[in-house]
Amino acid sequence: MNIPTTLKAVLFDMDGVLYNSMPYHAQAWHEAMEAHGYQFSYEEAFLHEGRTGAGTINIAHRRQYGTDATPEQIEQIYADKCRAFARFPEAQPMPGARALIEQIMAAGIQTVLVTGSGQRTLLERLAHDYPGAFDAAHMVTAFDVKYGKPHPEPYLMGLSKAGISATEAIVVENAPIGVQAAKAAGVYTIAVNTGPLDAQLLLDAGADALFPSMQALSEGFFKLLDS
Ligand code: CA
Repeated sequence: MNIPTTLKAVLFDMDGVLYNSMPYHAQAWHEAMEAHGYQFSYEEAFLHEGRTGAGTINIAHRRQYGTDATPEQIEQIYADKCRAFARFPEAQPMPGARALIEQIMAAGIQTVLVTGSGQRTLLERLAHDYPGAFDAAHMVTAFDVKYGKPHPEPYLMGLSKAGISATEAIVVENAPIGVQAAKAAGVYTIAVNTGPLDAQLLLDAGADALFPSMQALSEGFFKLLDS
């Protein structure tokens, strides 16, 4: 897919893109799943990043028992995952992310948040860590969407909130399922491999461009636009 010739907005995922929160999520998933008798490694959590909690739990349950988990099981495991996550310190902004967003804003390009997350602590910190970048009118969170990634819905909603078409936007994502969602919405997608996965997984998911970090994207973004 060609990079947009008229770029009006950049849609940013949050966990693993704006915040270095994924190591905590992955460790919390690993601990909660093992405590409930599932085999679920730290690395596997990155493979499912972006799915809903129920979706992730059902994948592990189906693999082990051949059926979906019950609503009660899902509720218990997810509550334990959230408890495990809550004991970690606050996730820090991803190095390079603020510099990238400042350049994009200075170029008069809209910034939009598209996340499946409903973590109020992080959502509240956005205004402090990325001043002026994400107002409520340009934010899609867990509270807005019905399906979640890899369904295109969150990104379609982000385009709609920005009032633009898919060909006027770029998505920045770090997870294979997030890349799938963005591509299903028809948007040029830059993958940043900020976790432990093989970068090929992001290309296989359909990424149009790949960077090893947000720092590298911050240095290469406008060169890519001009290419
Ligand atoms: Ca992510």
